[in-house]
Amino acid sequence: MKILFLDQSGKPGGAELCLIDIAKPYGDRALVGLFADGPFKNILQQHSIPVEVLTTQAIKVRKQSNFAQALASLIQLIPLLIKVVKIAKQYDLIYANTQKALVIGALASFFARRPLVYHLHDILSQEHFSQTNLRVAITLANLFASLVIANSAASQKAFVQAGGKSELTAIVYNGFDPKNYQVSESDVNKIQHQLGLEGKFVVGHFSRLAPWKGQHILIDALTKCPPQVTAIFVGDALFGEQDYVQQLHQQITALGLENRVKFLGFRSDIPQLMAACNLVAHTSTAPEPFGRVIVEAMLCGTPVVAAKAGGAMELVEHGVNGFLVTPEQPLELAQVINTCLQEIEINATIADRAKSIASQRFDVATINQQIAQLLCSLFNE
Ligand code: UDP
Repeated sequence: MKILFLDQSGKPGGAELCLIDIAKPYGDRALVGLFADGPFKNILQQHSIPVEVLTTQAIKVRKQSNFAQALASLIQLIPLLIKVVKIAKQYDLIYANTQKALVIGALASFFARRPLVYHLHDILSQEHFSQTNLRVAITLANLFASLVIANSAASQKAFVQAGGKSELTAIVYNGFDPKNYQVSESDVNKIQHQLGLEGKFVVGHFSRLAPWKGQHILIDALTKCPPQVTAIFVGDALFGEQDYVQQLHQQITALGLENRVKFLGFRSDIPQLMAACNLVAHTSTAPEPFGRVIVEAMLCGTPVVAAKAGGAMELVEHGVNGFLVTPEQPLELAQVINTCLQEIEINATIADRAKSIASQRFDVATINQQIAQLLCSLFNE
């Protein structure tokens, strides 16, 4: 089967990193069409996945666009649409990985007469999107998609609640190769030494810097933990959230935490960094659609504490394979951090259990098989 994958982003967010694992097995039978140039293209190339940047013109529609703005941007998209229709005719299937990719993919599937799959990596609710964007996404998916792959039950539920047809949906979690998360002790020691983390209790936060990812919650929690508790923030402001970055720095200065917090920017050595942490904290203030970092921490054998909402609740069972805390409650988070600091053995048991469950439950080979079967079934109906 030849697949044309479409993704709007030039930057590697969670949806894009997931796409790498899905597209890779198809080799030359896949093409990833991007609507922006950027580092994601290079990462695809490093994985030998065919990639083409289909437009470098910024698509102006935002998550909060109104109807007039959405319509204006649709007109602006016509040249891109023509290009995608032409390419799509050489492929068996169009696989839209993001919302703007859904817009183009839906129309292209109609003109090129190719089935459309929409991989839903978002919680389609008003917390994240404008009413117009929601309506456009749901209407296009209902009209044109043969299959909507939701990345969690939470994403699937929000899709149906917003008016999406449930019979189109299938829930498939992100897949991971457990081998990529095996880190040697010498690598851990090296990172701890490089970052000056020896002797500290390190809480890692691995997310792009954005208000709803809640980095500020962890900073607040630090004030309620003993001084050896240090935080590392791994990730960049991928979508221009510079005001938030500034706020975080102000918060750190105001609380006198300069020596207990490090910002490492975007990194590609996530497994090594996670393995060097004593705890990984996920602090999203809005429901997380899936939460790749939660599974990655588990695969690294590092205990994880996550905000109890959305997809995170499907990944973590409190006290069994990790910890759950109420979103936006720094005190509760601090209590978990302090418990982890004291009960090292119980934690190690929880982390071991999490690693073994996650290695099976999210194994990329099994997940890719599930996707392949779903795609094949579209041609056997
Ligand atoms: N990530 C990364 N480098 C960074 C920060 C994050 O490669 O510096 C990765 C992280 O390991 C995870 C993904 O970005 O695989 C984020 O996915 P998640 O589902 O947690 O959040 P999203 O970005 O999709 O909202």
